[in-house]
Amino acid sequence: MNRSEILFEDAKKYIPGGVNSPVRSFERVGAKPRFFKSGSGAWLKDEDDKTYIDYIGSWGPMIAGHAHPHVVTSVKQALAAGLSFGAPTEIETSLARSITSSMPDLELIRMVNSGTEATMSAIRLARGFTGRDIIIKFEGCYHGHSDALLVKAGSGALTLGVPDSLGVPKSVAAQTRTLEFNNIEQLQNVLADIGDQTAAVIVEPVAGNMGCVPPVPGFLKALREACTCHGALLIFDEVMTGFRVAKGGAQALYGIEPDLTTLGKIIGGGLPVGALGGRRDIMEMIAPLGGVYQAGTLSGNPITMHAGLATLELLEQADFYEKLSATTARLTEGLKAAADEWDLPFSINRVGSMFGFFFTSVAPVTNFSQVMNADTGAFNIFFNEMLNRGVNLAPSPFESGFVSAAHGEKEIDLTLDAARQAFKSVTAQRLKT
Ligand SMILES: *Cc1c(COP(=O)(O)O)cnc(C)c1O
Repeated sequence: MNRSEILFEDAKKYIPGGVNSPVRSFERVGAKPRFFKSGSGAWLKDEDDKTYIDYIGSWGPMIAGHAHPHVVTSVKQALAAGLSFGAPTEIETSLARSITSSMPDLELIRMVNSGTEATMSAIRLARGFTGRDIIIKFEGCYHGHSDALLVKAGSGALTLGVPDSLGVPKSVAAQTRTLEFNNIEQLQNVLADIGDQTAAVIVEPVAGNMGCVPPVPGFLKALREACTCHGALLIFDEVMTGFRVAKGGAQALYGIEPDLTTLGKIIGGGLPVGALGGRRDIMEMIAPLGGVYQAGTLSGNPITMHAGLATLELLEQADFYEKLSATTARLTEGLKAAADEWDLPFSINRVGSMFGFFFTSVAPVTNFSQVMNADTGAFNIFFNEMLNRGVNLAPSPFESGFVSAAHGEKEIDLTLDAARQAFKSVTAQRLKT
């Protein structure tokens, strides 16, 4: 056994499944997780000293690359001044100001400790503000693991939602409806029917938790108009897309103003974080100003705030997003060309530095049922071949990949070399079965 295998066996004795978040287990790809001991720039090193080009980026936060000196220095300085005071600190305002300067629709911002907490609180706030109970979400979008959002579609668009996890009460799931992502007509019909009972529609403006699935033209605009028409709040869950697809998030990229926005990932620079923000009149309903209760012992923790602010400072560099997009386009176009050489059905989506690929002939992939119909067997072969060649992709076909500013031509070329070999193996192994 190598060291990762030994550590995994040991972890399983004390931690359910050996992991603190399910996708890390590699269960879906029939493999065992690598245990990492360090990261630098675009690279990770595992406990057996094997190195990997990383496209997970801690699931999104590491847009500047691992252990960026500017972020590390800022955190080190903050550490020496104390870890947490449970009282206001100046850095919280600095980060809120920095966020709102890029995302002006966030007039007031409340910091929390995770994306899950941000969406959960945004839902409560929307219900408190509107006095309504129903929440509408979309198939394939993930908004954290709170009860109201771990709900999948019932048998039809208008049927009550059903729990997507044991332990979620049916009565809670019944307040959530799940519609098809990118289906404008269905959305308009359902809102015409129940819009006046709906507190909020929550959406990932670029879906990043079923691979990467961008909105079709007009989808977000139709959503905005329908919400305004029926008095339901529009919540953009930008935990993944905020500061990722553009500095101002998907709301800037597509020119849509949501009522509330949830953030996480990049704004914590790799430390635990979440935030919700939006229209002043809505945000003023949060305690202590209003009657919607929300609190957190470690919310706005100074160490996290320093990591987040230092990360956002790096995004100010000239052409930061242009360069990142160009690097990512080289990767995605290269992967597509490599798959084409083997005549493999292969579809790849990209928005900025977020990408998702599917072994399917459907192009572009625009919704969850298309994602579900892709060939997961081919994905598993490809994933394992890439991992063994030192490329760390998400261990699931339902996750986005992320490129960081530390990825350069060398890393992309090495990745494409590995991919040519991996596609060859996919073809060979598919022929055998
Ligand atoms: C990651 C993610 C969340 C959950 O954030 P956690 O910090 O893992 O709780 C919520 N929404 C979206 C869109 C995400 O990508």
